[in-house]
Amino acid sequence: MAVDAFVRLENVAKRWNGQLGVEHIDLTIPRGAFVALLGPSGCGKSTTLRLIAGLENPDEGNIRIDGRDVTTLPASARNLSMVFQSYALFPHLSVAENVVFGLKVRRVGRTERNEKLRRALEITGLLGYEARKPAELSGGQRQRVALARAIVAGQPLCLMDEPLSNLDAKLRTSVRKDIKKLQRDLGMTVVYVTHDQTEAMSMADRVVLMEGGHIQQEGPPEDLYYRPANTFVAEFVGSPPMALIDTAALPEHAGAARLGLRAEDVRIAEPGRGRLSCTVAECEFLGSETFVGLVHPAAVGLTVSVPGLRQFATGTTLEIDFDDGALHRFDAAGQRLAGSG
Ligand code: ADP
Ligand code: MG
Repeated sequence: MAVDAFVRLENVAKRWNGQLGVEHIDLTIPRGAFVALLGPSGCGKSTTLRLIAGLENPDEGNIRIDGRDVTTLPASARNLSMVFQSYALFPHLSVAENVVFGLKVRRVGRTERNEKLRRALEITGLLGYEARKPAELSGGQRQRVALARAIVAGQPLCLMDEPLSNLDAKLRTSVRKDIKKLQRDLGMTVVYVTHDQTEAMSMADRVVLMEGGHIQQEGPPEDLYYRPANTFVAEFVGSPPMALIDTAALPEHAGAARLGLRAEDVRIAEPGRGRLSCTVAECEFLGSETFVGLVHPAAVGLTVSVPGLRQFATGTTLEIDFDDGALHRFDAAGQRLAGSG
């Protein structure tokens, strides 16, 4: 195999009293990669991460880390660090003590400990908070302490479950970049759970999109965006999501059941020259572009992206045009058909 597989899940399943958790999980995570587990709430992201961590045991399948079968090993024997939604800090210890706790346990010397502490606090914006107790911090600050603790652990594999969900939008964007830079600098392998497709697409080398306990598609972000494997992926990835058009409206494409179309591939046509006649539902101005939301009886999610500021009154008739090559073709079961754009 070409990729250097650092983590491998083979046909892994986890059920609770026969109820579905995750099923048929086959996944290879390359060494040094930043992999995002993405999907809606309840799709099995955390379960998959906890199986890798050793916090859950699979009902079926095998898990290997760095060539070693770890399927039945406890979390402590897997050489990994974790950052979870809940901070799991020691309430009676200070920020500094919480961050270096693991290093102390491993008897790392004071000088090295302080160096690592300083760097981790700097990265997470916590310099000056060394002496505070968790109770004296905001939720966002506590989450950064948990991040700092994972950073100083220096393990080759770091598992993160929605670590930024308690941070405000601005801080989230900057910590995102910090995590990404850190992962690259340290050559860490990161598995990162998020329900936020923007976060997954912007941070990850590979995205694993899950739904209903199954992997729907796995690959580089651009694969999921430009070649969605099915209509679920098409509608989950991208902002705005891909529009889906019933082929009844475009009978020349009768070989497919539905056609996918992205906002940037849609043009506004001269009256009488367009392929579909729509009405304007709303205009969303984003600065560099405006998303014009359109209504058509045979389509969901039709949007045209126009540069700069454009305003159309709700109910205005707009004809749209697009190239056949821009259409994504899906069958009646929602699976991508060969020869799609
Ligand atoms: P996600 O992290 O994507 O939101 P989870 O992995 O937490 O989803 O959950 C996947 C499914 O497994 C859900 O249906 C959830 O209710 C179920 N599940 C998760 N943990 C448990 C548990 N400890 N006991 C019973 N069911 C669980
Ligand atoms: Mg979860």
